[in-house]
Amino acid sequence: MKKTIVIGSGFGGLAIACRLKAMGHDVTVLEKLDNLGGRARTLYHNGFEYDAGPTVITAPYLLNEIFDLFDKDSRDYFNLLRVKPYYRFVFSDKSSFDYGSSLKGMLNQIKKNYSKEDAIGYLRLLKHSKRIFDTAYLKLADYPFENIQSMFPYVPELMRIKFYKSVHSSVKSYLHNENLVKALSMHPLLVGGNPYTTTSIYLLIQYLEWKWGVYYGDGGTRSIVSGFKKLFDEEGIVYKTNCEVLNVNHDNKRIKTVETSEGTLEADLVVSNADPSHFYENILKIAPKKIFNKKSILKHSMGLFVFYFSTKKIYSDVQHHTIIFNKRHKELLDDIFDNKIYINDPSLYLHRPSATDKKNIQNSCDSFYVLAPVANNQSNIDWNEKGEEFCQHVISILSETVLPDLKSNIVDQFFVTPDYFENELNSFNGSGFGIQPIFRQSAYFRYSNKSQELNNLYFVGAGSHPGAGVPGVLSSAKVTEKLILKYNA
Ligand SMILES: Cc1cc2nc3c(=O)[nH]c(=O)nc-3n(C[C@H](O)[C@H](O)[C@H](O)COP(=O)(O)OP(=O)(O)OC[C@H]3O[C@@H](n4cnc5c(N)ncnc54)[C@H](O)[C@@H]3O)c2cc1C
Repeated sequence: MKKTIVIGSGFGGLAIACRLKAMGHDVTVLEKLDNLGGRARTLYHNGFEYDAGPTVITAPYLLNEIFDLFDKDSRDYFNLLRVKPYYRFVFSDKSSFDYGSSLKGMLNQIKKNYSKEDAIGYLRLLKHSKRIFDTAYLKLADYPFENIQSMFPYVPELMRIKFYKSVHSSVKSYLHNENLVKALSMHPLLVGGNPYTTTSIYLLIQYLEWKWGVYYGDGGTRSIVSGFKKLFDEEGIVYKTNCEVLNVNHDNKRIKTVETSEGTLEADLVVSNADPSHFYENILKIAPKKIFNKKSILKHSMGLFVFYFSTKKIYSDVQHHTIIFNKRHKELLDDIFDNKIYINDPSLYLHRPSATDKKNIQNSCDSFYVLAPVANNQSNIDWNEKGEEFCQHVISILSETVLPDLKSNIVDQFFVTPDYFENELNSFNGSGFGIQPIFRQSAYFRYSNKSQELNNLYFVGAGSHPGAGVPGVLSSAKVTEKLILKYNA
């Protein structure tokens, strides 16, 4: 049996561990932190449990097919609950808009709140999103781009779907109302991109959400991670937490051993789920061969400030996913992505899981997290100094919009900053999602799922093709599996 080591237990790492076990490998997952899940791990604080990261679960079949590999039914491991509406958008003029309850309801809402033209425009936008989905998702999301030539056959189709436009400019070409354009071009932010620069290929997320729906784990995203843990135990996939990989020893062709904080392990095959930018710099300690992956030209995603809190008041009229837009939009994104400066007027994503799943009423309290995109650690922001001040801005915005009297209702609270992403999750520059989803960092231009430097090294997760987000990293495991089958079975 091939001795395979998976470095990291994000959803990409969990998925490839299962896929390789099903192929007959002897798999060990090494995780630096004290629990599994990576960005999707559980955070425990004063008797409360919080999902650390992903809360919008889409394309659930990608999870189910992993359990199918072992002839098991994923519903015996975790259940998914439908979330409706998908999102509530709240704008600076105090108006709001619900997206994703039903298409008919949404079109009526657009007609009533905005205009008949925008309702027609939205249908045309959705049609365009489907065209992109049919090409970019169905054909390319799990396609292993091994060289630049492998992209050539798709160029005509990519031209037809206007990949060269940004998500924002594509949405703007269908809709007039500014609030609506802001709202319906926000999807890149969910995978680490600026809507003004992310290739319009990512418009596919909009159709993907309508096609399969938006879900949440029954018992939280953490219930999905626990489901994987149970599968690991049953199938004999070994996992070691509190075990950081520090170094890999190789002969310039193959990795022989993996050095960890807990000792050295032999390996026939290594799959890294760690951020590739971190992996090359700190573990492999060589520069990537591929010119597109040179440190000097890579653009990493924004950072994230995430505030976890529970309140004695139950805010029952707040939806599961609320996005609160600040008045500044393009300028705010410029400050975050390009100028990389401290901002005090963030736009926010608020997660209130008890809207879908009452089990998230813990200790008779409502629990939440709120996420603010901020500059990554290429900025000079000292979060030790600024964190508390920033948190107060976030609390003020929430109090003035959807959570009145928040401050006096909080019973538990803590926050993480880009420093957590850099120091705990080993994310280069403390970026929230790895490298950005711009065209020159997509498909073959992204980090390769198979290393170009060593024969028995592979990558899985947000930095590799197709990219960040739960469906992205689960698809990346399919790409990596195909390449391992081809070269290292
Ligand atoms: C706050 C937040 C909210 C999000 N919301 C959503 C959402 O709603 N829907 C969605 O689809 N996506 C969402 N995302 C994105 C999504 O969570 C990620 O893209 C995805 O989970 C990343 O998975 P991954 O496989 O790349 O691994 P990661 O989750 O990044 O995990 C990598 C793991 O590798 C470990 N590691 C690193 N270095 C080492 C080492 N040297 N030795 C051992 N272990 C190591 C890390 O500790 C970590 O556990 C969100 C992300 C964040 C941060």
